[in-house]
Amino acid sequence: MKQELKPIVEPLLKWYQNNKRMLPWRKDKNPYHVWISEIMLQQTRIEAVKEYYARFMNILPNIQSLSQIDEEDLLKLWEGLGYYSRARNLKKAAIQIMEEYEGNMPEHFAERRKLPGIGDYTAGAIGSICFNEKVTAVDGNVLRVISRIIGSKKDVLLPETKKEVEEMLIKIMPEESGDFNEGLMELGETICIPSGVPDCKNCPIHQSCYAYAHDLTEEIPVRIKKVKRKQEEKTVFIMITPDGKIALEKRTHKGLLSGMYQLPNVEGFLTEKEMKQVIQKWNLKDTKIKYIKDVKHVFTHIDWYMKGYQVLVEKESEGFLWASPEELESKYALPTAFQKILAHI
Ligand code: SF4
Repeated sequence: MKQELKPIVEPLLKWYQNNKRMLPWRKDKNPYHVWISEIMLQQTRIEAVKEYYARFMNILPNIQSLSQIDEEDLLKLWEGLGYYSRARNLKKAAIQIMEEYEGNMPEHFAERRKLPGIGDYTAGAIGSICFNEKVTAVDGNVLRVISRIIGSKKDVLLPETKKEVEEMLIKIMPEESGDFNEGLMELGETICIPSGVPDCKNCPIHQSCYAYAHDLTEEIPVRIKKVKRKQEEKTVFIMITPDGKIALEKRTHKGLLSGMYQLPNVEGFLTEKEMKQVIQKWNLKDTKIKYIKDVKHVFTHIDWYMKGYQVLVEKESEGFLWASPEELESKYALPTAFQKILAHI
């Protein structure tokens, strides 16, 4: 380590206490509020989460209501946030909390860690913010900030780098562990930002920062990506009956978007002749096929390249769920990848 971490504690706490943004889930230290917001924030920007959070809390104001919601309704509520296994895990964890902890979020890190969907970071965030537990909460923001402060060129994508950072932080963790952890995250989101130039001049801890002193903020953090992204091509059909119903089907219960509804689709980009054959195989008679749009959707390890077609069919056939536009709006959760195509008809 090229730089001591201890000197950052006081200035960071002071800065956070005076500058923290007023976010809906920061109005109180209710573990349910912190939990839901942290899960939503894992893959979504703060501004976008605010709206989802308000809608979620309106319908599911507490752990009990979350434990009782029908899964389809929950997925509908989660629509747009993606990574639907997070929503399913929320419900599973809520049921476990109702059954084993009388509806109260467990106060100890190790117990929270046993709940579905709660990893070290979320367990640490809830513990430090809500229960003043002296635990760390290291996410990508915190890894970046600490790597820059100590001048570390270790790959932040490696688990051992994260472990080292956790060990360093626990040694200097103050009594106000929640404010300290949130201060690091807040600094990473607002000043020591991931893309673009960090605002070092206004950083409360720049005097203790190795990357700032040695002009290394562009080189740190180091991220070595090893995973080669998989690319998939798909032909996607929006099949519409004369009365405006659209065909949906359920994905299998394994893998990406498992168990979610989708627009019928096949692997590869098909010619018109091939499309007609597929439609016939589905026992449908098309009256018109119209190209809509090429759409790309990026998942964690896979990119989908989709060609969307609108197909007017004579009537409904078995094997699909035929949803009216109202039902699509209010009842069935359709992943964003397909919503992107649907938006063009
Ligand atoms: S001085 Fe700059 S690089 Fe260092 S922690 Fe602050 S914002 Fe980040």
